Amino acid sequence: MKTECYIVRDLLPSYIDHLCSEETSKFIEKHIATCEQCAEHLHQMREKFDVNEQPDVQARIEQKKPFQKVAHYIDVQKGFMTFLRRSLWISIIVTVGFFIHSLTMFIDINHDRQEAREIEEQKGSILEDTFEVLETQKEPDETTLQSVFQKYNEELQYLAVFSIDDVEDFTLLQDGKTEPYPIDYTRLEKGPTTIYPINYAHAALVVGKNGKITESIIPNDYDIGTVAMADDQWIVQFEYQDSYLETIEKAHQNKYYGPTTWTVFQLPLVLFVVTAFIFGNWLIQKRNSKPVENILD
Ligand SMILES: [Zn+2]
Repeated sequence: MKTECYIVRDLLPSYIDHLCSEETSKFIEKHIATCEQCAEHLHQMREKFDVNEQPDVQARIEQKKPFQKVAHYIDVQKGFMTFLRRSLWISIIVTVGFFIHSLTMFIDINHDRQEAREIEEQKGSILEDTFEVLETQKEPDETTLQSVFQKYNEELQYLAVFSIDDVEDFTLLQDGKTEPYPIDYTRLEKGPTTIYPINYAHAALVVGKNGKITESIIPNDYDIGTVAMADDQWIVQFEYQDSYLETIEKAHQNKYYGPTTWTVFQLPLVLFVVTAFIFGNWLIQKRNSKPVENILD
């Protein structure tokens, strides 16, 4: 080989790629025309180049397609992960917010329940104290009954004692109605019972804040403002002060219509389940997307 041959062969790759200047190209072509070996070398190089370096464009596109699909899939998955992550955060914040709200509600309700319990206990105490005093006497005595009243004077309006014999044939006058209905003694004997007031006119003794009351009393028409209880000799009836009725009403509402612990925590519980569901999905997505990402890396 001549020195020129070496130079030409060094230049051939650039010549094939059309990177040589016009002058150089002319020089190579001139040499090839006269040098059979270099011409053959160029031919071989071109053949090799066609096969390896210049695959069919269509084939290359086909080759890329699955990767594009994977890339698209990953993009969609990443978008979904972002969506899940944001949803999870929002869900956590909302759940915690409602949980705190429910907790404050629960504390309030518990406080109200406690108050209702105390009122119930107090009903028992007032009646027990009165019966205890009555046990020692043949006839209700003003001073001793007044002493019981004084103990609860913050709440009480009237404290009355009826002899069973005096009211046996009497009836309760229901609020707004002229039609009387019979006293349910069995109910009264069981314990403190909220009733429509027994007419105070038939009482053996009624005391109020200033002692024995002799003038006629217009009973409270509020149906849960009066409580009574009976033993085999006496019926004790007391009436709450007007100012205390709101408390009584609240306690009553709480006892019978108040929200349960379940209803208070229902919403945050449902939200917690939703959050857990989103978290679960996020976790699954995170696990599934890892291997694919690793393959691409
Ligand atoms: Zn040559």
